[in-house]
Amino acid sequence: MSNILEMKNISKSFPGVKALQNVDFSLKKGEVHCLIGANGAGKSTLMKILAGVYTKDEGEILLDNQQISIKNPSDSMQLGISTIHQELSLIENLTLAENILLGNYLKPKGGFISWQKMNKEAKRIFDLLGVKVSPTMPTTEASMGLKQMTEIAKAIRSDCKIIVMDEPSTALSTDEIHKLYDVIALLKKQGYTIVYISHKLDELYAIGDRITVLRNGRWIITDHIDNISQQQLIQHITGRAIEKVQKTHSTILKEEFIKIENFSNNKLKNIDFSVGKGEILGLYGLVGSGRTELLRAIYGADQLASGNFYMNGQKKKIKSPSDAVDIGIGLVPENRKTEGANLDLSILDNAMLSSLSSYSKGSFMKPSMMKQAMLDVMKKLNIKAHNMHVPMSTLSGGNQQKVIIAKWLVHKSKLLLFDEPTQGIDIGAKDEIYSIMKEIVNEGSSIIVATSEIDELLAICDRVLILFEGEIIKEFSRPSESKNDIMNSAVSG
Ligand code: ADP
Ligand code: MG
Repeated sequence: MSNILEMKNISKSFPGVKALQNVDFSLKKGEVHCLIGANGAGKSTLMKILAGVYTKDEGEILLDNQQISIKNPSDSMQLGISTIHQELSLIENLTLAENILLGNYLKPKGGFISWQKMNKEAKRIFDLLGVKVSPTMPTTEASMGLKQMTEIAKAIRSDCKIIVMDEPSTALSTDEIHKLYDVIALLKKQGYTIVYISHKLDELYAIGDRITVLRNGRWIITDHIDNISQQQLIQHITGRAIEKVQKTHSTILKEEFIKIENFSNNKLKNIDFSVGKGEILGLYGLVGSGRTELLRAIYGADQLASGNFYMNGQKKKIKSPSDAVDIGIGLVPENRKTEGANLDLSILDNAMLSSLSSYSKGSFMKPSMMKQAMLDVMKKLNIKAHNMHVPMSTLSGGNQQKVIIAKWLVHKSKLLLFDEPTQGIDIGAKDEIYSIMKEIVNEGSSIIVATSEIDELLAICDRVLILFEGEIIKEFSRPSESKNDIMNSAVSG
């Protein structure tokens, strides 16, 4: 199939940085083309040149075999290119419909906007995308996923042919990401050509037709996704050959708090490790490597075929989550909407729920004490809510996550298990969650965190275990010095 777009020999420098050097990039009509590379590889810069945000220093751009010039964003839009930037561009105090259709669209010659027409048109586009929402919803009330869909709706209304999405999944939950995949498949069917920027490999295999890898501002490879293995892809991204991994044992360990011995079930194979007091231990691996299953097994949510659990050297039996909660273990699950919280209930009720077992045993906390403790923790975690009686559903993703953490702090949990703690949380709140996690361990508790975001892992973990097909295959005691090795060993098993 012929190329709808060609970027040839593109170079771009910023003061002190060659962001792009002689990069080639092409699009075939109707494909999903994934543009990948590590942070700083030049992905956004290349697409910003196409969007008219930056101008290229060198090179040429052809659209339908015609040389074109893109001097500003409106040139790009007129050529049928829509870009959804990494930083979303919605105006919070407008409705979704207003965000989609404002500009001069639907504005009759007299200059008055037909609100009715606008809402109807927005509804038509949302229907097209399979998104069920009222177009008059204020944007502030929309989840990150819905905001992303609104950006897409905004992109497709303006007669465009090419849609560029720059890391669209970063702030989305797993469910929202799947919804996004569906929409991308739909757009593809309707003949749109899509550029999808990401650095997450599983996404590329889920939706990509072709991929282009950039590294340090240079073009590395363009090929059909089926022709490239994950292992090769990592090699292209990092620029390093994959070394054979060997099992290593860390000798440095803080005072031992938790010991896991021979955990096995249908998803886990002979898992052995320890967690020190005040340590943040990271679990890294591909989707399906057993990270979530290991956390669930520790929490008593999944049964073990064999295995022993020790806390402070004492053997403990954990047969159910309530056993785990009773000895001071808390889980902040991956899907907070369905497992971590009941969004219809208030903040306070959510906090109480997890402590029910301790109530039923008549132990330390009365409701009035609980209320006071919750108030203190909410303040400490900077939870932005009107009061603790509002439903969880009214909070942003970041604040919901903080409430789930808060309930474990109220319960004085000593071991917190986090599964993808910042998934679906906007960038600003991420750092706050990291600070909270660090504070938790500074106060003497311990954390085990499963994450698929390498940068998150490096930012917070003291030590990292690599899981592959249910087994621990490697341990890194100084993760921040081993980024590439960590990524390599997670895929190569
Ligand atoms: P990616 O999107 O692949 O993470 P970018 O295209 O954002 O990478 O960045 C490529 C390089 O260009 C980086 O070194 C980045 O620091 C630099 N860069 C990007 N935008 C600017 C800018 N506006 N001013 C200066 N340097 C920039
Ligand atoms: Mg970028």
